[in-house]
Amino acid sequence: MAFQKSPGTQDILPSTVERWQYVERKAREICSRFNFREIRTPMFESTELFQRGVGETTDIVEKEMYTFTDRGDRSITLRPEGTAGVVRSYVENKLYGEPDVSKLYYIGPMFRYERQQAGRYRQFHQFGVEALGAVDPALDAEVIALGYTFYTEVGLKGVRVELNSVGTPEVRAAFRERLLAFLQPKRELLCKDCQSRMERNPLRVLDCKVDQKHFEGAPSILDSLDEECNVHFEKVKAYLNAMNIPYEINPRLVRGLDYYTHTAFEYKAEGIGAIDTVGGGGRYNGLVAEIGGPDQPGIGFGLGIERTIMLLEHQQTVTEEAGQIDVYFVGLGDAAERETVRLVYELRKAGFRAERDYLSRKMKAQMKSADRLNARYTAILGDDELERGEIALKSMVDGEQRVVPLNGLAEALANG
Ligand code: ATP
Ligand code: MG
Repeated sequence: MAFQKSPGTQDILPSTVERWQYVERKAREICSRFNFREIRTPMFESTELFQRGVGETTDIVEKEMYTFTDRGDRSITLRPEGTAGVVRSYVENKLYGEPDVSKLYYIGPMFRYERQQAGRYRQFHQFGVEALGAVDPALDAEVIALGYTFYTEVGLKGVRVELNSVGTPEVRAAFRERLLAFLQPKRELLCKDCQSRMERNPLRVLDCKVDQKHFEGAPSILDSLDEECNVHFEKVKAYLNAMNIPYEINPRLVRGLDYYTHTAFEYKAEGIGAIDTVGGGGRYNGLVAEIGGPDQPGIGFGLGIERTIMLLEHQQTVTEEAGQIDVYFVGLGDAAERETVRLVYELRKAGFRAERDYLSRKMKAQMKSADRLNARYTAILGDDELERGEIALKSMVDGEQRVVPLNGLAEALANG
């Protein structure tokens, strides 16, 4: 039996890879304008890093990690998200010792053992940014704006920003009591997951996708914020307003991860089946210390690239011209073969996209290939032309054909 890919993984074939490259190019280009620089961290890390950095009570750590023991008896986990590894690297490489705020981004595969559905895979890709080393709410607003700009500039319509503040650990402790008082009487109505979340991490109950109908009249964390949290939140909103970034306040938005403080946000869009979140992030002032580093604040987001691409397809956004090659070589006869090999190579070195026939097909079939590849020109080299040191160059746009000297081919192509 032939092999098949593992459940939850995907082949990105040449027919769609250009869309991926386009999205990734946009991400890099926008990061560069915002002065975020790329960081590449390993695809696997010690399991403990994720247990501490993502949080023991999260879905990720509880049931989604790809964890195994390596031959050296270490517990290793394929990264389920990007933040923990970036923060580990920031600490290990003492980036906090540099004079400026560390503004970092990453693009790459993540791994989670999840039930497969539209927009949910076991190997998926995230574009994420992390800004470490400052508590300035201008940085929160900048990170939110960066993600929003990314969606806008790849050409998506209807992406919304939802915003909340989850306060500080102290604020949350007080809110937790109020929330539990509200939830206790409804306990039996809630799903199994939420019943167990109520003990360990009740704030995350509000995040539940199935129980939303029971949360009418639930207390809002925004009413529990202290002075410091309020000031921070007000500034984030004011700066978003200053940049004209639209957002909606959602006091139920908590995000799945434990280390968030103050700002939490999500990017939402319709069009991926039952899923409406395409990315999210927040501030995590406790995380760097949590994984053993100095007490440095941070803020970031992670966006799903598959979901971005699904939305582009759903909205039928045109992302890129189909690739066009400059010249397709139609070779006729054995004697021309050696010259074709040379010319194709010379043109490629000179910067042209050149292709040729490898199947010794008839001229008609070769011309069809040139059409399929959307070639600007075909170069036809038969024995007669070769003898004269010439080649026939045919424009595929207007069908016009002219004869040029073999050593004048690059010049002829350059001049159109
Ligand atoms: P969800 O509620 O959809 O499970 P999440 O809270 O687990 O999302 P995050 O950990 O915040 O998601 O990841 C940020 C983004 O990464 C998501 O908004 C989504 O676009 C993408 N993402 C997360 N998990 C997957 C997955 N299994 N397959 C594809 N994309 C994913
Ligand atoms: Mg998830």
